[in-house]
Amino acid sequence: MVTMETLVSLCKRRGFVFQSSEIYGGTGSCWDYGPLGVELKNKIKRVWWRDFVQQRADMVGLDASILMHPTVWKASGHVDHFTDPMVDCLECRHRFRADQLDEMPWVHFCPATKGNKFTIPAEETCPHCHERRTLCPDCGKGELTPPRQFNLMFKTFMGPVEEDAAVTYLRPETAQGIFVNFENVLQSMRRKLPFGIGQIGKAFRNEITPGNFIFRTREFEQMEIEYFVNPHDTVEGRPADEHWHDRWIEDCLAWFRRYGVQAENLRLHEHERAELAHYSKRTADLQYRFPIGWSELMGIANRTDFDLKQHAKWSGKALTYFDEERKEHVVPFVIEPSAGVDRALLAFLADAYREEEVRGEKRVVLRFHPELAPVSVAVLPLLKKRDDIVRTAHAIRDELSRHFTAVYDDTAAIGRLYRRQDEVGTPYCVTVDVQTVGDTDRGEAADGKVTIRDRDSMEQIRVEASQLVAVFGELIGGKSWAEVSARVGRS
Ligand code: ATP
Repeated sequence: MVTMETLVSLCKRRGFVFQSSEIYGGTGSCWDYGPLGVELKNKIKRVWWRDFVQQRADMVGLDASILMHPTVWKASGHVDHFTDPMVDCLECRHRFRADQLDEMPWVHFCPATKGNKFTIPAEETCPHCHERRTLCPDCGKGELTPPRQFNLMFKTFMGPVEEDAAVTYLRPETAQGIFVNFENVLQSMRRKLPFGIGQIGKAFRNEITPGNFIFRTREFEQMEIEYFVNPHDTVEGRPADEHWHDRWIEDCLAWFRRYGVQAENLRLHEHERAELAHYSKRTADLQYRFPIGWSELMGIANRTDFDLKQHAKWSGKALTYFDEERKEHVVPFVIEPSAGVDRALLAFLADAYREEEVRGEKRVVLRFHPELAPVSVAVLPLLKKRDDIVRTAHAIRDELSRHFTAVYDDTAAIGRLYRRQDEVGTPYCVTVDVQTVGDTDRGEAADGKVTIRDRDSMEQIRVEASQLVAVFGELIGGKSWAEVSARVGRS
């Protein structure tokens, strides 16, 4: 399993993710996506939107604003309940989430060994004095304060006056933008239950202990769905909300598998009753085996009718659906698959990372799914001294870039260029050589063919340059290299 340090270093070196405001010393837990990172992130969002919103007849999309009416957060329970228990060290002043203290390694000055300093793994006792951690896990000396509840919402002021009446919040989840628009979408789009609303957007949480690279940050992006079902319906003999909850769990799992995440790195975690949020009937997390261990990748919750009822109560508007068959108004139940874009990106990145041995040399390769790879095709001239080769390579890149993410690179010899593309996960390289353009001095005619190299098998085939758009359309669209190369390579 790749370490987080290796990923962080690769991400910086190859333009995926940079520390935010790095020249000023960085901003705690904020990261910027570089040229390759933004392509990867956009592609993740694009396939998610296509697969879950555009291709499904029972889904529509929404893009609500980040700043909302402050009462939204009272109604949703965030003002009162969106808190984490926080403790402070009286000595070093570090802050911790009380519920995460036992999940971290701790510093211990052991009385049984004349006060020697040890770092003891999480949840373990000292092997010498057998004590458990009671003091600050970081400095090993300070007492910790009793836990206090800390609200994770970022407060801000709407308008030019900083007064209490103008207080509002940066949204801590995109979901509420969907609930408050339920009636608008229902009426304008004439939907029948069950149907869902999908949204992708930024969310903000003033996390007490952000960290682990882009896993937990204070500003992040979510891809959320609120799927509304009629609680009086049954499907295959079961309550509709329970049926759809299971379906969404399966669909989300299948989605990550479809884009290449290995089955052994994914698992489901059912929340125990005590772990459930105040609104939830059942929540299942999809966990990924991150370099930091198994952790939540996304959550799929049955939020019941909690949110719509709360907003109806606080706004005074009826947020109901008229069931034509039963001639009654119902408040729909909601299934919420909620994924973090940044966590998904980290999972795709960690999962794609391989170190391989090729002819006695190490190669680092990111085996991204072709639809997610930041660069789909790299066009490389075999000789950069030859104008006609360079011109042809540029022309091919220009043509390909109308359909795919394509780059041109001539800054090294071909072997090196291939390795560099492997390291950022480019699934295909196209090489333009002397045969492609011909050699008039030697009387050799141009054959108009180029070499395509496959990242994973490192096999190469020669194809007509004019066929490239069609060939990559098939390869990036889901056909296997074996199938396409066997057919195209033969012709
Ligand atoms: P955690 O237990 O890790 O704090 P959560 O259960 O509070 O997460 P949800 O409220 O269910 O998270 O949010 C849905 C998804 O949004 C998470 O599964 C995760 O992918 C993403 N997410 C939540 N908080 C953060 C964060 N601080 N940084 C990055 N992604 C986040």
